[in-house]
Amino acid sequence: MRFDHGSVGCAVVAAGVVSIDRPRPAAVGDAAEFWAWMRVGEFRLQRCDACGRFRHPPQPSCTSCGSHARSWQSSDGLGEVWTTTTIHPPVLAAFADRVPYRAIVVRLDEGLFVVTNPVDDVDLPIGTRVELVLDPIDADLVLPFARASTSKK
Ligand SMILES: [Zn+2]
Repeated sequence: MRFDHGSVGCAVVAAGVVSIDRPRPAAVGDAAEFWAWMRVGEFRLQRCDACGRFRHPPQPSCTSCGSHARSWQSSDGLGEVWTTTTIHPPVLAAFADRVPYRAIVVRLDEGLFVVTNPVDDVDLPIGTRVELVLDPIDADLVLPFARASTSKK
């Protein structure tokens, strides 16, 4: 199943690369709201209402100005591969059936960094323009993955 999320520009795909028995993100504190947006298929970033800086991972106050005023802004999930690596054993038992697999850091156009994996474990060299796609793992978890994009910054 695949559908586009017109309002935010992120696509949702069922890549089938994660099983439900793997460790899950800790959806606590401000991160709980990030994961709640992900569950409804929206990739949103926390933004300071006082100075306008984006921040990720979510946190209760701005590291730039110290304000606690914050809101959530939709993101197209566009950026470029900042760095990449291939994961080899030893790994947690839950990931043993996946190795080797690629992990990448995407620098979003908003200036934030997101650690993720390429869709279908495709090689995405440093500097590749990418878009995040949201993969509903189950009813409670949607994860972002990256794929090559023809978008311009
Ligand atoms: Zn601020």
